Amino acid sequence: MDERLKMIEELLKHPLGPDDVFKFRCKQCGGCCRDRNDILLSPFDLCRIAKALDKTISEVLSDYGHLYVGDTSKVPLISLKMRDDNGKCHFLREDNKCGIHSSKPAVCALFPLGRSASKKDGKTEIFYILQPTECGDRDETHTPREWMGEFNLEESEDWFFIWQGIVFEISEHTRKLLPKLPESVVNEMMIGMANILYMRYHLDKPLPPQVKENGILALKMLKMIEDMLSHAG
Ligand code: SF4
Ligand code: SF4
Repeated sequence: MDERLKMIEELLKHPLGPDDVFKFRCKQCGGCCRDRNDILLSPFDLCRIAKALDKTISEVLSDYGHLYVGDTSKVPLISLKMRDDNGKCHFLREDNKCGIHSSKPAVCALFPLGRSASKKDGKTEIFYILQPTECGDRDETHTPREWMGEFNLEESEDWFFIWQGIVFEISEHTRKLLPKLPESVVNEMMIGMANILYMRYHLDKPLPPQVKENGILALKMLKMIEDMLSHAG
């Protein structure tokens, strides 16, 4: 097993609940804001950033997002794009502080915590892990719940729960469907699905019902393609 998989397996043995304690103090060195390709943006993040910058979601996506298909999940994903000239995040200021601090993506806000979800007996369960990092100090004690509070992310667990449920469900279909489709159809399908999942939001309306509605629409699209394939076969 490669080292990275071993490390992930080891981390998953020590999940943290929202009120478990961990020790960490960020020294605001900006080290975690460079050369990253793993900062995933959910629709919740895109909407928060769009509101903070007074931009549309489509502008945020084209200026700061990189759309790709997840290797394992086969779901369209968006990561935060770094600058081409120096590998830094577009939002990293000269003083190493985040230019969108109170609206930063949940992945950034949670660091050094990582949040994940697993599906057990048909139920989605959320947990946190403390990522191995040499940065910062270990002289402050926190809990995931209180750590998220600084970024107004207390409600994000509910939100993450809804989003992960949709991602799991879509992934179950796309992993079976993709090998049966020509590449050109896969590309079109992924672009269509990305538009549904990430772009169709009214920023002034509550997001969770809109996310659910978009998830249902994306699943309908997949089922339509499955039906067409089964009739053609
Ligand atoms: S989390 Fe770590 S790498 Fe990021 S700014 Fe804080 S101390 Fe630096
Ligand atoms: S959004 Fe803010 S915290 Fe996240 S990588 Fe960019 S500068 Fe760093």
